[in-house]
Amino acid sequence: MSVSEGPEGPEPAERRPDAPDYPVREAARAPSVPALDERLTHCRACPRLVDWREQVAREGRRAYAGWDYWARPVPGFGPDDARLLVVGLAPAAHGGNRTGRMFTGDRSGDVLYAALHRIGLANQPDATHIDDGLRLYGVRVTAPVHCAPPANKPTPEERDTCRAWLAGELRLMRPTVRALVVLGAFGWQAVLPALAAAGWSVPRPRPAFAHGAHVTLVATDGGPDLELFGCYHVSQRNTFTGRLTPTMLTDVLSRAALAAGLRP
Ligand code: SF4
Repeated sequence: MSVSEGPEGPEPAERRPDAPDYPVREAARAPSVPALDERLTHCRACPRLVDWREQVAREGRRAYAGWDYWARPVPGFGPDDARLLVVGLAPAAHGGNRTGRMFTGDRSGDVLYAALHRIGLANQPDATHIDDGLRLYGVRVTAPVHCAPPANKPTPEERDTCRAWLAGELRLMRPTVRALVVLGAFGWQAVLPALAAAGWSVPRPRPAFAHGAHVTLVATDGGPDLELFGCYHVSQRNTFTGRLTPTMLTDVLSRAALAAGLRP
């Protein structure tokens, strides 16, 4: 059965996973984070990214010979009642796109999960594959773009199309989430509109990204405010050059965890 065909024939056009408004429709209707995650994994709304994620999986990489790539949108990872969110930009072609879990199977994830483990928010420092036993405590890791993009650069249109999933995730986690760390300037730009859509007031002009930046976003509906933090991305380009050191990363994550009411 094709992804666009149900047991009683073709899906109505507006419900097909390759419809441009599939993310908006399905994210808004999802009754829970697990339901949103499940719907997300069927999404095919961005033709270029669908082609890329599947091409990467077909061609593979010598180091991962024998791997059956996930090659689908990668959902957030961590408890759905987390108080802290860590948000990157998009899965890596041979990382999350291979393993099916955010920041898993690449150097960026090695750095991130080791830091979360250091401050007591992960049970182990390693993230190698989806059954590696990794568990997060009070923190969930997600992204504003859920498919691996060529050259790690989604187009503005792809970024805007995918935003609905993050906005939906934020809406569903609103009762518990109190702080959010954005990794990198691209992610920062992509996340701010989703935060506004989910019910927090984003100042004008928009707050600028910086490592260590901290902004309190006031709720527009009387709900809880959100403590927003900026952090350099955990990319190899930053960690290999020392632009982002383990201490710098741990410091921002610790501040955010404290702001979220976690006690690392
Ligand atoms: S990037 Fe987002 S909106 Fe585009 S196909 Fe992937 S999951 Fe769907």
